[in-house]
Amino acid sequence: MAETFEGARTLILDNVAPLPAESVTLLDAGGRVLAEQIHAPYEMPRWDNSAMDGFALREEDCRAAAQLTISGYIPAGGSAENIQVTPGCAVKIMTGAPTPAGCQVVVPIEETEEDGKTVVLKGTPQVGDHIRFRGEDIRQGELVMTVGSVLRPAEISLLASFGFTTVRVFQRPKVAILSTGDELVEPGEAIGPGQIVNSNAYSLAAAVKEAGGEPLMLGIARDNRESLQGKLMEGLQADVLLTSAGVSMGDRDLVCEMLQEAGVEQLFWKVDIKPGRPTAFGLKAGTPVFSLPGNPVSTLVTFEEFVRPALLKMQGYQKVLKPFAKATLSKAVNKKPGRVQFLRVLVAEDGGRLVATSSGDQNTGILRTMLRANGLAVLPADRGRIEAGEEVNVHLLRAHDSFL
Ligand code: AMP
Ligand code: MG
Repeated sequence: MAETFEGARTLILDNVAPLPAESVTLLDAGGRVLAEQIHAPYEMPRWDNSAMDGFALREEDCRAAAQLTISGYIPAGGSAENIQVTPGCAVKIMTGAPTPAGCQVVVPIEETEEDGKTVVLKGTPQVGDHIRFRGEDIRQGELVMTVGSVLRPAEISLLASFGFTTVRVFQRPKVAILSTGDELVEPGEAIGPGQIVNSNAYSLAAAVKEAGGEPLMLGIARDNRESLQGKLMEGLQADVLLTSAGVSMGDRDLVCEMLQEAGVEQLFWKVDIKPGRPTAFGLKAGTPVFSLPGNPVSTLVTFEEFVRPALLKMQGYQKVLKPFAKATLSKAVNKKPGRVQFLRVLVAEDGGRLVATSSGDQNTGILRTMLRANGLAVLPADRGRIEAGEEVNVHLLRAHDSFL
């Protein structure tokens, strides 16, 4: 019996786990997921310091029009150790320089008038202003990042400021990609009668990279037992095996059978979705195997909905399912109840709300409408026709125009 969409996803996510950790340099750590806890090795900032270029002075000199003698100078990188602010004096100080003993406030240059020897305050400074106090950001020993934190530029900034040169992250999955079919030739090869170019291997490789994995190209297995057996065995050495085509009802659709012979335990074959119904998923000694349908659109849609979340989970991401964007359907869509339908749509903002419009012909054989789409509207299995103006859930397909 076919699995439901949600059931298939649950089976997949319940059966994949984060890969072991590895150390990477900070330069390679962006976008990876932390596999260790990070405690602050010291306070941040490490000492009281000036937040502005200006003058450090004492509380009792905080008066409008006070005229103070400039008694010292501390640049960034300088030391305040032998400098004291005494009554009636101010020390010139640059942003980031340590504040000297006795100083309770920094007055920015633009709020003073200076002649080189003395400085006059324009307004009345408030005690504590423009000083960054030791430990005000982070305390020594504080837990600043936990396992599962995604290392965005801000996290990298923190790690670098604490002097880390390497960090432990979860490994990226090595994903073997195998195309199957007697009709396939590789790009660049002569295309004979009845032949087509193996495009799935390349679209999948791009999708794997986009999801943080490393593609391993296995090439093409032919629709016979020997060819499939050899390639499947090779593919099962990777962290994940992806196959395309050969999972439908044709008499040469041998992928599921050969996977079973190779010791892969099948968890499902066929899902109540459109496109992508023949998708299968199994495990061999913990290695996930996705058998995706061969139609290029189905291959990409099933990657997006099933493989991508699994690859993210293997990399340690805790949130692996895309949030739905809520969009209003611009035109009615006819669908048969019984299957979740992934409608290729163009989502655009219109007067502060998102509107989803079909990107065109939804036939599985039409790749062009996949190119035009920036989202997949996920139409519920139990629904028939969906009317214009109804709200639909959309998985946005591009990272940089996500509207979210
Ligand atoms: P199948 O599931 O083997 O019947 O394949 C379904 C459809 O996908 C057929 O039209 C195949 O020619 C096509 N197809 C299979 N593999 C690929 C591939 N690697 N690249 C592009 N199209 C493919
Ligand atoms: Mg085939």
